[in-house]
Amino acid sequence: MTREDLAATLEEIALLLELKGENPFKIRAYRTGADVVQQFAGDIVAKAKEGDLKGIKGIGDALQQKLHELASTGKLEYNENLRAEFPATLFDLFKIQGLGPKKIKALYESLGVDSVDRLKEVCESGEMAELSGFGKKTAEKVLEAIAFREQNADRFRLGDVAVPVAEILDFLRSHPDCLRAEAAGSYRRAKETVHDVDFLVASSNPESIIESFVSQELVSKIIAQGSTKASIYLENGLQCDLRVVSNDEFACALAYFTGSKEHNVAMRVRALERGYTLNEYRLSPKEGSEKDEPPVFESEEQLYDFLGLVYVEPELRENTGEVEAAESGDLPQLIEKENLRGTFHNHTTESDGKNTLEEMAEAAIDLGLEYLGIADHSRSSFQANGLDEKRLRSQIEEIGKLNRKFVGDGTDFRIFTGNEVDILKDGSLDFEDDLLGELDYVVASVHNAMTLSEKDMTERIIKAVSHPAVTMLGHLTGRLLLQREAYAVNVPAVIDACAETGTIIELNSNPWRLDMDWRWWKLATEKGVKCAINPDAHRTTQLDYLWFGVRLARKGWLTRNDVVNTMTREEIEELFQLDPIS
Ligand SMILES: [Zn+2]
Ligand SMILES: [Zn+2]
Repeated sequence: MTREDLAATLEEIALLLELKGENPFKIRAYRTGADVVQQFAGDIVAKAKEGDLKGIKGIGDALQQKLHELASTGKLEYNENLRAEFPATLFDLFKIQGLGPKKIKALYESLGVDSVDRLKEVCESGEMAELSGFGKKTAEKVLEAIAFREQNADRFRLGDVAVPVAEILDFLRSHPDCLRAEAAGSYRRAKETVHDVDFLVASSNPESIIESFVSQELVSKIIAQGSTKASIYLENGLQCDLRVVSNDEFACALAYFTGSKEHNVAMRVRALERGYTLNEYRLSPKEGSEKDEPPVFESEEQLYDFLGLVYVEPELRENTGEVEAAESGDLPQLIEKENLRGTFHNHTTESDGKNTLEEMAEAAIDLGLEYLGIADHSRSSFQANGLDEKRLRSQIEEIGKLNRKFVGDGTDFRIFTGNEVDILKDGSLDFEDDLLGELDYVVASVHNAMTLSEKDMTERIIKAVSHPAVTMLGHLTGRLLLQREAYAVNVPAVIDACAETGTIIELNSNPWRLDMDWRWWKLATEKGVKCAINPDAHRTTQLDYLWFGVRLARKGWLTRNDVVNTMTREEIEELFQLDPIS
């Protein structure tokens, strides 16, 4: 039982109660409980186990008992009984974008919709459109959402696989027969979503590695097991493939299994031009060629060098010009995570964040950052508890006080006062100019009216970035990976507008977003647009999303000069035209 398990169970109870049409106060109590469990500063699982939850605000008597039962037995009878009242396939409906508990309840009760298949039926037959509160448009939207889900059924977000991949790598590397181990494939190339993860190990005792790999605790099912390879499913459904090779084969195998296919084709062509064939294990003289056996490559660098190329970082291996650039020596010096000195777009409890201003600042200091930008939501984002003028002005004051305290106690750190200001439907901003002028910087983002036509959406965003107060554009396309498609917008036109107005574009590094997409950054930097890597953190631990941002920035060919987070605090003060704190 982890903290997440406890919170997820309370969330699930809230959903089930909502389905049953229970009293909203009761439902809210479970939601609040889930939040409290998530944020509790101490070891909440241990406390729940010991039945020591008295006096924690937001967890009443009933919840205390349930958490105790759950933490000490791993089960909760109350929840199991609730679940048993509904068919198991009903829970899949919650994963369909646009269907909340109220809609699901109505569909279930009036049309007997208890599975995604049945949902599809009532959309197609027109039954849903006739139901009160629904309509033809809703039915079309739901069908689209089902299709989108089916398309992405067995894909995973980079952020969802990072933790298990790190655990498996640690496990493999600690094996006494393991000489080297890497995760290859699209994971190593930092694709925003992956289908499976490929592991590669160098060992002279493959069987013992395979045996350990398939018997890890994380494994839920063995798909295949041979003498040098194996495939498994993890509990979350992720497929992991392992290949064991000799130490001499490792470099070629790592290059091969990292891909992409297109990059590998380009590499094989180069090898052939030089009289060699390249496969997943080695480079060898082409049949009939007079060439000597090439040396054993100890590293990928040596293989690239042998083929007349500068080493190509894995993130770049998509055959989008990296081979040519590696030949001419024009590969960019990619940004590294050590280059980051701060970040800009983060939330606090003042809007919908889970940690206070002080906690966020402390966490940023602990990460070694020199500055942190706070950009809570603006008033129109009422669902996210957006700030009105008065609350924003008092936050500005609060931040000023903290900054003076940092100066007083010699902490080399500054909080920048920003706001994530809503771009309204007509492209105007959610606050008046005088208030915007009191901020250090402004992030402008779209949070509503996402169904505009491409032309209207593009004009809306261009109008916003053309406002002189806007420093950077937040999550350009609004996509939620594997859940919600980007809204219609002409990205190159927005890039042009940002180039013209000197507006920074955000690389929102929340693993659900990773927006602007890595495929556009080459164009943006060609036009001179700068990037800000922003975690959009809603709790202290999410500041770590920065590292996903760095990987995707690398994938977009970005150097440290392209990314404003690499600037020193003084340089940012100059960029934002601020006086140093005194
Ligand atoms: Zn946002
Ligand atoms: Zn945000």
